[in-house]
Amino acid sequence: MTTTLLSTDLRIQVQSAHKMLIGSEWVSAASGATISVEDPATGQIVAEVPAGDAEDVDRAVAAARAALRGPWSRITPQERGKMIWRLADLIESRAQELAELESLDAGMPIMEARYVDVAFSIDVLRYYAGWPTKITGDTIPVSFPMNFGGPYHACTLREPVGVVAAIVPWNLPLMMAVKKLAPALATGNTIVVKPAEQTPLSIALLANLVLEAGIPEGVFNYVTGYGDTVGAALVDHPGVDKISFTGSGSTGKAIARAATGTLKRVSLELGGKSPNLIFDDADLAKAIPSSALAIFACQGESCVAGSRLYAQRGVYDEVVAGLAERARSIKLGPGLDPSSEMGPLISAEHRDKVLGYIDLGREEGVDVVTGGGRHGAEGYFVEPTILTNVHARSRLVREEIFGPVLSVIPFDSEDEVLGLANDSEFGLGAGVWTRDLARAHRLSGAIEAGQVWVNCYQAVDAALPFGGYKQSGWGRETCRENLDEFLELKTVVIGL
Ligand code: NAD
Repeated sequence: MTTTLLSTDLRIQVQSAHKMLIGSEWVSAASGATISVEDPATGQIVAEVPAGDAEDVDRAVAAARAALRGPWSRITPQERGKMIWRLADLIESRAQELAELESLDAGMPIMEARYVDVAFSIDVLRYYAGWPTKITGDTIPVSFPMNFGGPYHACTLREPVGVVAAIVPWNLPLMMAVKKLAPALATGNTIVVKPAEQTPLSIALLANLVLEAGIPEGVFNYVTGYGDTVGAALVDHPGVDKISFTGSGSTGKAIARAATGTLKRVSLELGGKSPNLIFDDADLAKAIPSSALAIFACQGESCVAGSRLYAQRGVYDEVVAGLAERARSIKLGPGLDPSSEMGPLISAEHRDKVLGYIDLGREEGVDVVTGGGRHGAEGYFVEPTILTNVHARSRLVREEIFGPVLSVIPFDSEDEVLGLANDSEFGLGAGVWTRDLARAHRLSGAIEAGQVWVNCYQAVDAALPFGGYKQSGWGRETCRENLDEFLELKTVVIGL
C-alpha cells in the first residue's frame, strides 16, 4: 500500500478518526455517516471522514455568523495580517506533511505537491497578509444642491461581505482552499470550507493550523461531505452571503442557478480547454518541454492544462516527435514515490472517462502517437497520450478531458490559428510560442482567455489575476481586484 511511504506519525494521523471543525469543536457528522477516502494509486481505502449534511451546514453557518460579530470584528487590520502571515509560516513548517497528504489523497507527485500546491498556498497567504491594512474607502466630492441640507461629507466604506462558503475541487485541494481562505480573512469575512469528497485530508490539517495561528474560533469552519448534500446546503443557506466555487462547469452553472434563490454573491473558477500555439519561429528547445509540462503536470488534471496544441506546419513534425519523446520518458507511479513523475488520476470513474475520450478518438480515426491506455493493473493510472489527425470539431478538442491527453493540430497562418484558438466555449489559459514581438502583442490581445502566456506556460503568481473568460468562470482570484469580490461597498452621506 502507498500509505507505507508515509512517515509513521502521518500514517497514524491519516488512519485515525477524522472530524469536522465547527466553531471550536471537532465533531462527527450529526447523522454519524462517513465517506471512505481512497488512495488513487492503489484504490485502497485510507481514511473515513464524516459525511456531513444540511444539519451540519446549519451549525457551521451559525458558528461563522456568530464569529463575524464576535472578537474577529474587533481585531485590528494589522493583527489580521499577522495572523494570516503566521498561518503561512505554520504551513511552511508542516510543508512536507501537507505535501504527503496531498500526494496520497489526490495522487500528484510529491514534488508537485510540495513545490506547486503547498508552496503556492504559502505565497498566496503572504500576498494577502499585506492587504488588511490597505483596504480603504474614498472621500467623494458631491454636487447636491445646498438647499437639500448640505454641505455634505460623502464617503465609501468597504465592509466584509459576511459568511463565505468555499467549495473546492479535488485537484490541488490545499491551494484551491487557500485561494479562497486568504482573501476571505484579509477582508474580515468568516468562512465555511467544503473540500471535495475525494480529497479532505490536507484541509483537515489546514483547519488545525488556522486555530494554531490564533485565528478566533468560528472564523474557519470545515465541513466534509458530498456536493449534493453539504455543497447544495451551503448554496441554499440564507446565512451564507457568498459562494466562492472552483470546479466543473456543470456544477458551477447549477450553483449559479441555485444561488438566485437567495441572491448571494457567486464567484466561479471553472474548466478550460486551453490552446497552446507554437509558431515556426519559436524556440523549440523551450517550447517542447514546457508544452509537455503544460499537459502532463498534475496528470493533466489542471484547469489550465494546455490540452489543444496548435503547431505551425514548418515545425509540426519536430514538435510531435519532441512531445512524444518526452511523454514516453515520463515515469508513472504513486505520487508518494519520489521517483514518480506522473501519478494516478483521481478515481476509477474519472480514469474511465479519460479512456473513453481516447476510445472516441480511435473511433474517429485519430493517430495515437504514444500512450492511449491504462498503466499498470492497480490504481487509476493513464499513460501520457498524444493524438494527431484530430478533427477540429471533435469532442476531443472541444471538451475538457482533465487527463493526460493532448491533441496536436497543424496550422498555416496566424489568422487561421487565432480562429481555432478562440473557437471554444472556454477561455481560461493560452500559450503562444514565437520570437516575433509584434505577433506576441497581437495575439495577447486577440486571444479570448483570462491569461495568455507568451514563451512560457502556467506562470502564476499570487499578485496576478487568475480566472476565465466565457464559460471558464466569473471573477478573478489571487490579485488586488479579487478583494472586491469579498467586500461590500457602502456609501455614507453626512449632511453637515
Ligand atoms: P466538481 O464540480 O465535480 O466538484 C467541485 C466541488 O463541488 C466538490 O467539492 C463537489 O463536492 C462540489 N459539488 C458538486 N455538486 C455540487 C452541488 N450541486 N452544489 C454544490 N457543490 C457541489 O469538480 P471536480 O471534478 O471536483 O473538479 C474538476 C473541475 O474543476 C474541472 O472542470 C477543472 O477544470 C475545474 N477547476 C478549475 C480551476 C480554476 O481555477 N478555474 C481550478 C481547478 C479545477
